[in-house]
Amino acid sequence: MLKLDKLYQNKKITMSNLNSTLTRSRNKTSTPTLIWQPATVEGVWIGHAAEEGPTVGIMGGVHGDERAGVEFIRSAKSKVKIKRGTVVLMLGNLKAIKNHVRYKDINLNRHFNKHEVIKPLKSGKEPYEANRVEELIPFLDMCEAVLDLHEYNNPKDKPFIICERDSMKTALKMGAPIISFGWCKSEHGGSDDYMHSQGKQGICYELGARRATAKDVHLADKVVPRFLAAHGLTDAKLPPLFRKPMLVQTLKAVIRAKGQYKLGRSFKSFEKLIPGELIAVNGAESIYAEPGQVIIFPEPDAPVGDEAFLLGAIVNN
Ligand SMILES: [Zn+2]
Repeated sequence: MLKLDKLYQNKKITMSNLNSTLTRSRNKTSTPTLIWQPATVEGVWIGHAAEEGPTVGIMGGVHGDERAGVEFIRSAKSKVKIKRGTVVLMLGNLKAIKNHVRYKDINLNRHFNKHEVIKPLKSGKEPYEANRVEELIPFLDMCEAVLDLHEYNNPKDKPFIICERDSMKTALKMGAPIISFGWCKSEHGGSDDYMHSQGKQGICYELGARRATAKDVHLADKVVPRFLAAHGLTDAKLPPLFRKPMLVQTLKAVIRAKGQYKLGRSFKSFEKLIPGELIAVNGAESIYAEPGQVIIFPEPDAPVGDEAFLLGAIVNN
């Protein structure tokens, strides 16, 4: 684990003189001006309010081709207003962000796990993302809760939240048409799974379709203040963005097998399946829907070995 003092690039801002700056500021005024502190790790910024309080993280660009989170984080220093506590802003996969691709070597969103030994690439080199995870985890560890901003593929899909049940209260306060949980079992390694594994809160907010960046940043502008208020960094009273969400328990990820692969029809994500209908032919297996099931992230062109789709169950209606 890195020591906090080591994380600060600017030698003029050490933890001790930062604390005295904050004490002076706390004694003087309660204006919501944040003191921003550069960290030695690229793509991470730490902002302290004058008043003491919880530390929470906001992350974007874990997938480099999901630009809304990236745009939000890049403009967050001027947007984020808190009354108390500390906000840690993080850009996820810097190399993927630079090249507008999902990831460079491996999917960062499956490797937030400090105990995992990530395999080297066929070339023998360490995947870039293995190093980036190591850089980011100390900052996740500073936080009691992290909000991770993502986008999805299909413009017909609705925004949704991924979290575990212990973050459900916050998720309901923020609001989304769909709140899904159980991903720590079906598809682990996201920042939400990591925070959950540490007994803390992690929320992944899927804002909208990837190519609708401006619209999705606009939603992030509403989501983030609700997350900050839910954790007590502001006193804002903001109603949930959506009420009465569909609650979905994810069941399992289906991996594209070798040989034939074809979806039974065109599906939307979180679409309710008709019991008995053919979901997909996957290699030697034909998969049929069971009552109350939904399909999540159907990928008609999934390459062999990648996730073809997930199955979930509606748990509230
Ligand atoms: Zn994503």
